[in-house]
Amino acid sequence: MPKDSKIVIIGSGVFGISAAYHLAKEQYQNIKVFDKGDYDNNKFNPLQGATGASTDFNKLVRASYVEKVHYQNLALESLAVYYEWNKQLKSAAFLPEGLTNDDLIFKNTGYVRLDDYPNNEEERTLANFSKQGLRAYEYDINDPEDIERSKITGWYSKIDPLNQKGTVKTLSGVLDSIAGVANADKALLWMKYLCERTGNVDFIYGPRAGSVSKIVYSSETPEKVVGIETADGKYYPADYVIVAAGGWTPQLLPSKNQERLESVGSTFICVQIPHDRQDLLEKYKNFPMVNWKLTFEGNLRKDGVYMFPATDDGIIKIGANDHFWRYLTGNDKGILSVPNTDFKLLPLESLNTYKKFFRQWLGDLSNAGVKIEKSRYRFSAVGQHNEFVIDFIPGHSNLIVSSGGGFHGFKFLPIIGRFVEGLISGKDYKYAEFFKFDSIPKKDYDIELVKDQANPYALNSVKFVDRKTDYFDL
Ligand SMILES: Cc1cc2nc3c(=O)[nH]c(=O)nc-3n(C[C@H](O)[C@H](O)[C@H](O)COP(=O)(O)OP(=O)(O)OC[C@H]3O[C@@H](n4cnc5c(N)ncnc54)[C@H](O)[C@@H]3O)c2cc1C
Repeated sequence: MPKDSKIVIIGSGVFGISAAYHLAKEQYQNIKVFDKGDYDNNKFNPLQGATGASTDFNKLVRASYVEKVHYQNLALESLAVYYEWNKQLKSAAFLPEGLTNDDLIFKNTGYVRLDDYPNNEEERTLANFSKQGLRAYEYDINDPEDIERSKITGWYSKIDPLNQKGTVKTLSGVLDSIAGVANADKALLWMKYLCERTGNVDFIYGPRAGSVSKIVYSSETPEKVVGIETADGKYYPADYVIVAAGGWTPQLLPSKNQERLESVGSTFICVQIPHDRQDLLEKYKNFPMVNWKLTFEGNLRKDGVYMFPATDDGIIKIGANDHFWRYLTGNDKGILSVPNTDFKLLPLESLNTYKKFFRQWLGDLSNAGVKIEKSRYRFSAVGQHNEFVIDFIPGHSNLIVSSGGGFHGFKFLPIIGRFVEGLISGKDYKYAEFFKFDSIPKKDYDIELVKDQANPYALNSVKFVDRKTDYFDL
């Protein structure tokens, strides 16, 4: 493909920015990334108003994927790049606004998955780690040998962070010492900077200039895309258009392809450790990433919660396993779930999960009077069988979709864009076959799209917390 082809990318989250980087690295010189987010000003920070799923201050980076070894291997490859980025950032002579030499893009905090019932997902994950020679990085929290080993390697304090041993009779779990936390906003700023350094990528951000209102098709050959229009009325011609619009992707796809992806939302909350409680700050900064009752496959179990270590400023982010909220709206393509990140209210069910977790396991924080300072919704496009979709849209030779990151796509920021580059350059990268539109036959689809506003997962009908009376107390 000519290197001066005009390439338009819709979306500057993980999937869009990574695509821009990999194309630019392969000398494509004419890449434009559009995003309706005001990222020049909010710097991808969710507390400054950024709303994409990728915009966050922390995201889990793990390689444990039960039997999905393609993700396991891609995550290990990503991890190596995260370490390399840490080094490059530390010694960089010039950095863009928002990054300093003291920032860390990735921190190896460890990640402990805890449950109150024996979970054979862990055995299967450990078996796949063993095949890679990685078993020594994993610690079964009930295995005496692993526990002894953790004392030598220094991971012992992270094996039972919630002090559940002795309280939960059937406690099971694995501490994964390979995993850690990415500072998501910093990672995105860094990758954007890497793109800009090539001189091949322009970023056009903002609710008017950056918002793509229309994909324009050729009047003679309607399956061919010729450009895009933005909300300020400008037209940009394109040889390729890549839709990497996260939870907004399904609404940009032709209707017949929409079943492959669905926009699904989840809540998270932030609590602030009181500034005079240095003891709590020290304790929670040194926490591993914690999953409680959150299995990869049994996504609909109640009471599942994940919790990040405290940031240096004492913010702890906690998410409930409630990632099945849809916000349904009717448009020319019928009833469809679309992101609604303006929602301020928590569903009662989500609040109850948070409260229960605090009551049971975070008594010291509750006693210190921490309250929910912020709650947010994030929507992401979830692919059938939780697989990404990175492929030409069927019937269209120059329209590509790169999406479906669901609730696990962030960690692949360093590498995921090469699959888009592969499509445009005609290269067949290892594992690309998993991300094809038709890699899963329709008859095997596991998500039936929610279309009914009365569905218990439709935010249109759920019961919300009364913010004035019971929102803040935990
Ligand atoms: C609550 C939650 C927690 C998660 N936790 C983790 C985790 O710990 N670890 C992990 O690896 N993954 C995690 N994920 C998954 C990860 O966040 C997503 O897979 C990833 O961020 C998706 O990236 P994206 O680029 O597809 O979408 P997004 O980041 O949403 O980016 C899409 C962009 O497109 C823009 N856009 C949309 N429409 C238009 C338009 N018409 N014109 C211009 N721009 C447009 C949006 O503004 C947005 O910036 C989590 C996801 C959620 C929702």
